[in-house]
Amino acid sequence: MNSTWISSKGEFIARFESGFANFVGAGHAASVCNGTVALHLALLVLGIGEGDEVIVPSLTYIASVNAIRYVGATPIFADSLPDTWQIDPADVERRITPRTKAVMAVHLYGGACDMTALSELCSRHDLRLVEDCAEAIGTLYNGRHVGTFGDVATFSFFGNKTITTGEGGMVVCKTAAMDHSIRHFRGQGLAGDREYWHDVIGYNYRMTNICAAIGTAQLERVNDILRQKKWLAQRYHEALIDVPIQFQALTAGESPSYWMVTILTPASTDRDELRKKLKSAGVETRPVFYPAHTMPMYAQGHRRFPVAEDIASRGINLPSWHQLSSEDIEGIADVIREFPWSIS
Ligand SMILES: *Cc1c(COP(=O)(O)O)cnc(C)c1O
Repeated sequence: MNSTWISSKGEFIARFESGFANFVGAGHAASVCNGTVALHLALLVLGIGEGDEVIVPSLTYIASVNAIRYVGATPIFADSLPDTWQIDPADVERRITPRTKAVMAVHLYGGACDMTALSELCSRHDLRLVEDCAEAIGTLYNGRHVGTFGDVATFSFFGNKTITTGEGGMVVCKTAAMDHSIRHFRGQGLAGDREYWHDVIGYNYRMTNICAAIGTAQLERVNDILRQKKWLAQRYHEALIDVPIQFQALTAGESPSYWMVTILTPASTDRDELRKKLKSAGVETRPVFYPAHTMPMYAQGHRRFPVAEDIASRGINLPSWHQLSSEDIEGIADVIREFPWSIS
């Protein structure tokens, strides 16, 4: 604040970007003002547009799907896997057409998609691979941070994400040329060496120096936050061991970051009742995302994605803030344990 560099120029932008690239192990990282525009830029730099299809899980946060429409392309939904809740690579393969240009892998709730299968099928069909890592800061797959498998990957630093800048995002990629193009679109399409000369229709998607300063400080703590999140998830697993609920399973090779501790109840009626009971005990929860194919903008005909619909109808995100105490978790677990489970 005292430096007066409060907009999108200043020392913290480059510091946060290089610190983040280093943390993830990515070649390049460009900061942006949120995770949604990060996805828009990721698709733009891949040249995806009108007439192209992008395969995306129906079970995701809406921004993953909307970004595909921002570039004029068509989202093609794929179903999810019943245990890990991540996009089902076999269903992705079934939905490939001559118009398919890319697959968007969304790493849900701190887990990881099956990147071996997705990378293999993308290279076999000559498709680009985009990773939406908004919920997966700190998640590893076969020892490598997610976001380093695809052509381009995005992160979010919204207030509920593992590290935050208030609003913020990052686009990471492998090549200097792609990074240059991301920065070009991010900064109003400014041509370079001539003031106010723009050679493409760009956007103002820049992060502020203030947000980058917050991000730089958050990065100093990221490993502590991840440690606390893992501890929290373990406490929940132990406290709920005898309850008839299902936790998110790990993809083979995944080392999760436990962004959100999520459970499935045996039936959707239990889900809604349990949420009410938790609410009256002062515990805020969230439902798992509604599948995007059920929303008015994307609903067509009677398409069914049975696994996504099932997970969405039975899922609850439990409080997952990294500074919850043992007593907090015990209190929440007590309410869940005392619930009159309807299954035998
Ligand atoms: C949070 C989130 C986003 C969007 O990030 P914002 O910073 O809120 O724009 C995109 N995709 C997924 C999967 C998310 O969870």
